[in-house]
Amino acid sequence: MHRFFIEPQSIDGPRATLAGPEAHHLRHVLRLTAGNEIELFDGTGAVYQARIEHMGKEIRLAVTTRQIFAPREPALFIAQGLLKGKKMDFLVQKATELGVTGFLPFHSAHCAVPDLKDAKTSRWEKIILEACKQCGRPIPLQVAPVSDFDALLGAAGHHSCKLIFWEKETATHLAGLAPLAANPSVIALIGPEGGFAPEEIDQAAQAGFTPVSLGRQVLRAETAALSVMAILQYLSGNL
Ligand code: SAH
Repeated sequence: MHRFFIEPQSIDGPRATLAGPEAHHLRHVLRLTAGNEIELFDGTGAVYQARIEHMGKEIRLAVTTRQIFAPREPALFIAQGLLKGKKMDFLVQKATELGVTGFLPFHSAHCAVPDLKDAKTSRWEKIILEACKQCGRPIPLQVAPVSDFDALLGAAGHHSCKLIFWEKETATHLAGLAPLAANPSVIALIGPEGGFAPEEIDQAAQAGFTPVSLGRQVLRAETAALSVMAILQYLSGNL
């Protein structure tokens, strides 16, 4: 069934109205008409089945069912050192599909990207919404503003499991991590293309992070991030 994003205020009990780009997509791209059934999600966890009633300037819908989805637990937060080109776009999309709760881009000592243009974060909003529509995720990925490494560590105190992925780690491997389902929230840090500076690993360890290895090969940052998302979601019972 075709899925559309709707603002919560556009739903009033059994009635809803769709306008703007989502209405355009319904009408001109998908060419749906009165009588067709669609699915709506409002980004807060509510998912509705609805029937198209009237195709005027706005599209009038009759809501038939409503289901409320709770946020996932444990909540997984992926903090990623800024990457070049479209790699961050790719990771934002994959994080949405894999049910990651929050994505925290950060700037660190060996980042090749000086900073992020605001335009990118608004492009991410679109990527996230499209990915939610495609995969049926009811609550979108939250993206934090870009922070620096110190601020990232400073704000991570409340996570019950804190991991930093480091290619030079030899003692702690992912396979040795206990199942994570008992944690309310997990945060994982992945470095930029240039990796973490040794001082950053020390600083993170002091802030309560455990350095973890992903095996003997040095992975590209995006390979490391995608693997971490999938494996931690598996260990958390979220896949
Ligand atoms: N430039 C560095 C590698 C950086 S890889 C070098 O050549 O030494 C980018 C990021 O991916 C790293 O900061 C780390 O977070 C993650 N990563 C890549 N391979 C890894 C591995 N084998 N174990 C743990 N983390 C890894």
